[in-house]
Amino acid sequence: MYLENAKDEIRIEMLEVYAYHGVFPAEKRKGQTFMVNATLYTDIRKSAREDNLELSTNYSDVCHFITEWMQEKKYDLIETVAEGLAQAILLKYDLISKVDLEIRKPEAPIELPFGCVSVKISRSWHKVYLSIGSNMGDRESYLRGAIDALEAHPLIRVRNVSGLIVTKPYGGVEQEDFLNGAVEIETLLPPTELLDALHEMEAAAGRERKQRWGPRTLDLDIIFYDKLVFEDDRLVIPHQDMENRSFVLEPLCELAPNYRHPLLGKTVAQLLENLNNV
Ligand code: ATP
Ligand code: CA
Ligand code: CA
Repeated sequence: MYLENAKDEIRIEMLEVYAYHGVFPAEKRKGQTFMVNATLYTDIRKSAREDNLELSTNYSDVCHFITEWMQEKKYDLIETVAEGLAQAILLKYDLISKVDLEIRKPEAPIELPFGCVSVKISRSWHKVYLSIGSNMGDRESYLRGAIDALEAHPLIRVRNVSGLIVTKPYGGVEQEDFLNGAVEIETLLPPTELLDALHEMEAAAGRERKQRWGPRTLDLDIIFYDKLVFEDDRLVIPHQDMENRSFVLEPLCELAPNYRHPLLGKTVAQLLENLNNV
């Protein structure tokens, strides 16, 4: 669950797990002791107020889950253990928005005196707003299909979907009207992997990239990813032209009128109003 204010912590310190991870065959055969430190970020206010375990995350349950998860797998690397376990915790425990996880290997096969080796990672749910559009064939069914595909992805949860609006094409290419909407999701995917997943969904809907701003069965764009500002050759976040597009801002305004653009400093409602006044 994505909770921006989930800053309370449940901590598990030095959980000892006997497991079978390591590059050497002997490590997978004989096993060794691992230590786990986990900080679970959540909001404990409600469970604390009502003194009710049902409203919190049961740390005994989490300890057993960690132990069983680590014991039923045999990985070469503690990096893989940490990554997989962090993901499994975030998928299983609904109230946890973020987890810091440290896997220590005090008996690692190093022929030198040492205290411990460990990896430590931090993973969380991210809130993302997508713009969705179609102007070929059965537009509504392409958009509904996209929402189903998002929902079906194991690392994506659809939280909210705007109404769909009919809009005029943008960018000067003569073509059919568009159907546009916005979708709020939560995801464990980092931005570039999310873009890859969206491209796969577009391809599955028969999208062909012939012409920029040309006709398409399905277009899925990342508008906001948390408050991230990011740019590389393939991806720009926030979407670089969103403030000039009412077909993006209008549906988005229905979902997140008060969401503030991290570079422009204006809310979605203010950006839409500016555009309407141009
Ligand atoms: P526009 O991006 O202006 O809306 P478009 O959606 O028609 O145009 P596409 O052909 O769908 O353009 O995408 C071109 C490339 O834009 C994609 O391959 C992708 O790498 C890149 N891109 C950059 N930033 C984003 C973003 N925030 N969301 C989706 N794609 C992006
Ligand atoms: Ca687009
Ligand atoms: Ca696109």
